[in-house]
Parts: sequence; C-alpha cells; structure tokens
Amino acid sequence: MLGTAPFTLGRSLDGRAIEAIRIGSKAAPRLVILIGRQHPPEVTGAIAMQAFVETLVGTAVRDGLGDVQFLIVPMLNPDGTARGHWRANRGAIDLNRDWGDFSQPETRAVKAWLDALPADVKPVLMVDFHSTGRNLFYVQGDEASPAQHRFLAAWLGGREQAFAGYPFTIEPRNANPGSGTAKNWFHARYAIPAYTYEVADTADRTATRAAASGLAEGLLGALATLEL
Ligand SMILES: [Zn+2]
Repeated sequence: MLGTAPFTLGRSLDGRAIEAIRIGSKAAPRLVILIGRQHPPEVTGAIAMQAFVETLVGTAVRDGLGDVQFLIVPMLNPDGTARGHWRANRGAIDLNRDWGDFSQPETRAVKAWLDALPADVKPVLMVDFHSTGRNLFYVQGDEASPAQHRFLAAWLGGREQAFAGYPFTIEPRNANPGSGTAKNWFHARYAIPAYTYEVADTADRTATRAAASGLAEGLLGALATLEL
C-alpha cells in the first residue's frame, strides 16, 4: 500500500513550516531518510533530489516499496532560503554542523521525529543533497562495516561513468569527531550508510535529473544487500 502523506515536521526560527513527505507504509520496518536544502543556495542538489523523489514515487505506485519507507525533508532551511543566506539558518548556524549539538529547531525537528519512531522501524540509509564544484558522493571510509561496503558497491560502485553527462566520483571520508554533519551523525547514531550527494554547479540539468532518476531506480535493490 502506498502512503504519501505530506506533513509538518516542525517550525523554523521564523516560524516557517519544515515540510516532510513519507512514502511507503508507515509499518515498513526499514526507513530511508532523504534531506535537502540545509544550505540555501544549493539548487543543483535540489534538482537532483526532486528527480530522485519523483522516481521513487513512480516505483512506489508501480511496484510498491516492500519493507522500505522514506522520510523526505526537501527544505530543511526555509528561513535561510527565504532570507537569501549563503549557509546559515536564521540562528546564524550552519545546520550541517548542528547534527550533534541540535541547537537549532530545524535539526531538532528531524531528531525528535526519529526519536519517536516505533521500535520496529529502523533507519537504514540517509542521503543528504548538496551542491559543490563537481559531482561526487561523500561516503564512509574504512569505518564502514562490511554490509555498508556491500551496499555502496551495489548502489554506486562502478556507476561513476554510467550516466551520460553526469560523471561522478565516490569520495570515502571517515568522520571528523564533532564535525556536526548529517552524514557523520546518522552513521554514528544508527550504524548505517550516510552519504552526501553533491551536484556540480555546472552539471547539465537534464543529465542531473536522469542520473538521479537512475540512481533512485537502483536503490531498493541495493538496499537488499544491507539485510545480509
Ligand atoms: Zn552544502
């Protein structure tokens, strides 16, 4: 059964809604978290995220999502976006350095929702969409477990040149303690793969969408490797 239920996860400092969408059955035991727009101007990441989510919704309608559900937070920093900030929220904090401190309502809203999950629903993957100078994925380094390595190989491995106009690299980085990124917090808190999906400023928009769609199509199959 497909559920797509938009809801308000919390409020920003200015009182703006932090909107979220859930795809899949709320009873599905495996939860994938997708986060966007921690950094206001990073629109190419948002373009990829939109195509990624549209493809997931298509898959959900066509085939169902099985035992997987998604929490999608496309705009975590609505105040910074409305105010034209470079990185910070209204509280002058880079939200992607606040995972750990949780000093800001935007990051706290996500954590509170996760903390309230029923015990039989477990996060299995987090992907955080951003923009930078070139297309890449920041992934865990040798701190990744064997299952996490298998997932990476199944999802992204060997596909760096698979999408015309959208070559990317895979950049393993172990966590800096206390760095406060979503990537590091989700990996440490839940022992799951947690990746930063970085889209080049100059990436062709059509290729960006096609690659994101292709990567979304491969995701459910790759997630199966985490069950081993
Ligand atoms: Zn960013």
